[in-house]
Amino acid sequence: MVKGETDLCPQKYKKDFPKIAIIFPGPYLAGMSSLAFHALRRHAQVHGNVSRFFIENNTPVSPDKAHWHDMDFFLFTFCYESQCRIFENISLLPGKPVMAGGPLVSTYPEYFRRNFNVSYRGDLTAEFFAGAFKQCGTASGLVTAPARKTAEDSPECSSIIAAHTEFPDTFLIEISSGCTSSCAFCLVRALYQPRIFFRKEKILSLLSENANYYGKVGLIAPSVNEHPEIKSIMRWCLEHKKNISFSSIRLDRADEEFLELYALSGQKSLSCAPETFAARLQKKIGKNTDYNQYLKALRFLVSRGIASFKLYMLCGLPGENDGDNMENIKTVLKLQQDLKTCGVQIRLGISLNPLAPKPLTALAQSPLIGETVYKKISALYRRELAPAGISFKAESYRAAECQYAMAKKYSSV
Ligand code: SF4
Repeated sequence: MVKGETDLCPQKYKKDFPKIAIIFPGPYLAGMSSLAFHALRRHAQVHGNVSRFFIENNTPVSPDKAHWHDMDFFLFTFCYESQCRIFENISLLPGKPVMAGGPLVSTYPEYFRRNFNVSYRGDLTAEFFAGAFKQCGTASGLVTAPARKTAEDSPECSSIIAAHTEFPDTFLIEISSGCTSSCAFCLVRALYQPRIFFRKEKILSLLSENANYYGKVGLIAPSVNEHPEIKSIMRWCLEHKKNISFSSIRLDRADEEFLELYALSGQKSLSCAPETFAARLQKKIGKNTDYNQYLKALRFLVSRGIASFKLYMLCGLPGENDGDNMENIKTVLKLQQDLKTCGVQIRLGISLNPLAPKPLTALAQSPLIGETVYKKISALYRRELAPAGISFKAESYRAAECQYAMAKKYSSV
């Protein structure tokens, strides 16, 4: 353990059990912010003596003071494409089983088939992990979880509360999985079917059991506000003096009661992802963001003291033209003007991402926008938004390029 960590499921040394390295291909800060990594630790501890490793400067580093060469099994979890490059630069130990899991395995199965003794895709239930682990020295290829989790299963949650992560002092908990919306660019619907809302009782029981160890609850779901019991869960947090963070909110589906609780939960700002306000493109990507619903929700938040908003937008959508980008810019400017009528200083920020088409989605065959065009669109946004005091950030083209390269190289099976 490192300074600032509280272990919620400390392991006892198990004689004659294997030494399992669980590895997050990336730094400690990112790994300890990943619920998938926490879940892997909880499950793996049942079957062996587990040590964490993170990859810093191509080198495995263990906060548990374990030695890479002493380990019997190597279990990696993959959430992002960039982690594959990190993995490729690590020196593995010949003859020792190397396994992979995590959402990326389902997206790029061929990559994992080629690079690992065995890779696991699908929901990480305790039964699946137990069965898979028994065969991990002998199984090979791709193993698919036999069943999806159900609402009756216990939600995944933090196994350690850590001070030095992206979510310090926070108990992360998955409250739902999957999504019923059909945004053409999004993998969630393809990977996690059917949608599951974990039972409120199970969620509150975990929050309650661990309440002495954290100050904040991190609610994880593709759209947190769509959980049918979200308001009760938030009320519990407020009654127990816990702040809340939200992985993702669909603002156009947030009612006033939710927004009221959101404002009471210690928030200073709100981030959301309209993707595009251009009506023509909304139809193409299957995500209809209604301007008036957005405005109504944001005005309500302003009336409750929240006046800092960040909107995530996409560009490079199929059939997009200059007119669509101008429509987006004009809508953002109008939003700022309309919010000004609240009589409060508003801070509005735009984050622009190039669409990186993903396998398994309806846009899988779409091209990646060219870098020059992306720079031109970014410059247009910056030029038009800056005079109005709206901050603007163009996100990394390299990251999108890396994702696109993976998608093109490894077809799904
Ligand atoms: S973008 Fe959000 S709302 Fe749309 S399918 Fe994905 S998770 Fe659901």
